[in-house]
Amino acid sequence: NQPLSNRILNMSTSATLAMAAKARELRGEGKDIIGLSLGEPDFNTPDFIKDAAIQAINDNYNSYTPVDGYQELKEAIITKFKRDNNLTYTLPQIVVSTGAKQCLANVAAVMLNEGDEVILPCPYWVSYSDIVKLNGGIPVEVPTTIDTDFKMTPAQLEAAITPKTKMIWFSSPCNPSGSIYSKEELEGLAEVLKKHPNIYVVSDEIYEHINYTNSSHASMASVDGMFEKTITVNGVSKAFAMTGWRIGYIGAPDWIARACNKMQGQVTSGANCIAQRAVITALNADPSAVKFMIDEFKVRRDLVLDLLSDIEGFNTNVPEGAFYVFPNVSYFFGKTLKGKTINNATDFSLFLLEEALVATVTGDAFGNPDCIRISYAASQEQIKEAIQRIKEAVS
Ligand code: PLP
Repeated sequence: NQPLSNRILNMSTSATLAMAAKARELRGEGKDIIGLSLGEPDFNTPDFIKDAAIQAINDNYNSYTPVDGYQELKEAIITKFKRDNNLTYTLPQIVVSTGAKQCLANVAAVMLNEGDEVILPCPYWVSYSDIVKLNGGIPVEVPTTIDTDFKMTPAQLEAAITPKTKMIWFSSPCNPSGSIYSKEELEGLAEVLKKHPNIYVVSDEIYEHINYTNSSHASMASVDGMFEKTITVNGVSKAFAMTGWRIGYIGAPDWIARACNKMQGQVTSGANCIAQRAVITALNADPSAVKFMIDEFKVRRDLVLDLLSDIEGFNTNVPEGAFYVFPNVSYFFGKTLKGKTINNATDFSLFLLEEALVATVTGDAFGNPDCIRISYAASQEQIKEAIQRIKEAVS
């Protein structure tokens, strides 16, 4: 009987954070839990970025920042968009926020009216659905399977569109499937969208640099006809190991960027001053400065796939980016393991936590109830030990 708003009562708790909390609780009881549930690189922020932050403190960057970010940071973002994505944004089209998460929250708040539909190809990043709902939108889930590498086809997109469709939100590389849309695949989706000029796209590219293919990253905004329809979301949390610094940014049509600026000005104001100064240095660096992390993630991806291929019931795609595998584990549904009946991915993920002492996340949270997400942002030793434990628990 606490008089909370329907808004918060209707919102689900972030499943990844809930799993991390449960793992912490078990650790508190003395259990040796291996955490493969979080979307957080296990590297430290590179020294050249930390040095820039220390310099910023000593240079007395301590005042409120411009709501949409320091001009030098926005210039660095413009340079980055040009260098990495061949996108030409101008200053009024850039907004810096407190993480890509705030970028997404801003965009939902400024774009959605009650009852607007937002197409979410499944699996999608855990927060999309709740951010959309919080802002009156209706998530329209488009299920995909391992057969299409968890990617939405143009035909599926076409079929999901209704007169109420306002937006499509997707991430590429995808959290949680690791799938990457090629330029051709994005062009296929854009062909459909050309027939529906009132639909806008959120292209979440936060895993851009964590790409194991030989092809360069493809941005939706760079596809013919899509620049004016796309909000490109990016940030430094993943590729630069800067999750706690909380800096994300968008490139968008200027009327959308202006609206986000207005929203942010009333809710949080500009993002943290020290972190913004450090990110100028991070973005101006050549992406090769963080390549050692990507190389290590690739080794781990191959290790995880190799070890999982040895366990019956784990059916995986080959993730091309990000740092997750998303195995279909429906083979276990209806089976009883160690006296526990597994009815769905949530049961299975909890089973792994309790019996293998390995934290993963249920696919339910990502709109795919047949899968679980395993993050390989952990050392190779931890990965080997975790998968060995999983193997013993399910065999
Ligand atoms: N988008 C995706 C696909 C993510 O996986 C995450 C973080 O897990 C975010 C956005 C949020 O990133 P940030 O730390 O910049 O808020």
